[in-house]
Amino acid sequence: MIFEQLFDPETSTYTYLLADEHSKDAILIDPVLEQVERDLERLSTLGLNLAYCVDTHVHADHVTGAGTLRARTGCLTAVAASTGVICADHPLRTGDQLRFGQHQLEVRHTPGHTNGCASFVVRDGARTLIFTGDTLFIGGCGRTDFQQGDPATLYRSVHEQIYSLPDDAIIYPGHDYNGKTHSTVGHEKANNDRLRLDISEDEFIEIMRDLKLGMPKKIKVAVPANMGCGLPAGVASEAVKEVSPSQITDLDAYHLVDVREPHEWTGEHGNITQATKLPQGDVPAAAEAWDRGQPLLLVCRSGRRSRRVGEILVGMGFNNVSNLTGGMIAWNEQQGGPAQ
Ligand code: FE
Repeated sequence: MIFEQLFDPETSTYTYLLADEHSKDAILIDPVLEQVERDLERLSTLGLNLAYCVDTHVHADHVTGAGTLRARTGCLTAVAASTGVICADHPLRTGDQLRFGQHQLEVRHTPGHTNGCASFVVRDGARTLIFTGDTLFIGGCGRTDFQQGDPATLYRSVHEQIYSLPDDAIIYPGHDYNGKTHSTVGHEKANNDRLRLDISEDEFIEIMRDLKLGMPKKIKVAVPANMGCGLPAGVASEAVKEVSPSQITDLDAYHLVDVREPHEWTGEHGNITQATKLPQGDVPAAAEAWDRGQPLLLVCRSGRRSRRVGEILVGMGFNNVSNLTGGMIAWNEQQGGPAQ
């Protein structure tokens, strides 16, 4: 197996590149948005095809590169179902396996740092590797005081899902702030300051309650961005093309979606017969079943609501999204009167 541990110095985040040396299929674990070019360069130098980007959780300290890597490479994205991230291609659950060549990444739900944390186990010959995200660090663990974190849950996740692996299983954490790269299950059981085997659940809860940490600098930006697969509003908004009514020569070339509310379809601005009529709130769920490459054209009354819906669809992986500039108002002007 090809294996690289990459590091983002600004947030001390480890990104892991795993690949099958024969099929060249690769997985990236916890890519960082600012390091997307580095990751693409490593993939191209090694001649790899990126099959999946997986996140261990919805990060609060950095924005994931998953959505951007999906847009650039066509890879699939995956994160635990319990995160509620609806734009991911694969909602992961304990026991799920993601294949890359002859290897597989096995999912273990390990909530506690957040409610949507997962750890990933990969076997490489006689070696067992576990990617623990922020559930278990070398000598410590992730905080449990936001994003539905809970110390008792984290304690059980570590003891049941990580410490149940053999002592020589290698731990690769989501961060290290002291220059350490990996540890083993046996080493952490004996030495971890918070999660040694001789520390009880109650003692652990007390340790975590006494931490009194400040909020991460980027939490207000990172969490919402990561709920949208890491496509920041700016990126999603650039990806939605504006098309004015006069630029449309063949309406049938698009899947046209009218995202207004039902009473508006029959109101003063009328509607376009060919349009699929779906109120904006119903679009993301319905879009799960649509072809992500088809040209989409979105329309509302003035072009504002449909633009926002377009940004959500870009976040879900649609790569050919247009917005009808000026909406039905502009359309009717161009057509010389309200549509039917
Ligand atoms: Fe985290």
